[in-house]
Amino acid sequence: MGKKKEEWKKILREAGLRSTAPRVAVLQLLCTSGRPLSHGEVLETLGHDDWDQATLYRNLLKLEEAKLIRVASRAGGITHYEYIQPGEETHHHPHFVCGDCGQVSCLPCDQVSLKVDEKWRTLLAESELQFVGTCTHCREERPHEDVEEVEH
Ligand SMILES: [Zn+2]
Ligand SMILES: [Zn+2]
Repeated sequence: MGKKKEEWKKILREAGLRSTAPRVAVLQLLCTSGRPLSHGEVLETLGHDDWDQATLYRNLLKLEEAKLIRVASRAGGITHYEYIQPGEETHHHPHFVCGDCGQVSCLPCDQVSLKVDEKWRTLLAESELQFVGTCTHCREERPHEDVEEVEH
């Protein structure tokens, strides 16, 4: 699903934004990451050398304003952004937040069943649905709490 740089530039221009290297890089990263990323995670992945924190932060806000990305979660006071897939502009899927490491994952709608009554559905503009738990990675790292074998 990797788009070429030229395609990203076109997407930016069509959204009314100037296409700059940081914006292309951020979009590309958020589209391919497969999960929402925080400012810190984006910075970590793209490298501190190329762009400073403030530039990146401003670009994330710009991209959000242009509705190319959206805030997936603000759990724990940390904003996680995700790329808006074509056709997903108004439809929001739920997210799973790990209470240990703070990693946010997208939950595909076919894995969660949630019924919103017709009466409310017509009124819905946005939804922010989050499930909090422990991700598989943290679960594996966690020391076993059950009784360990006793050595004599
Ligand atoms: Zn975790
Ligand atoms: Zn998501």
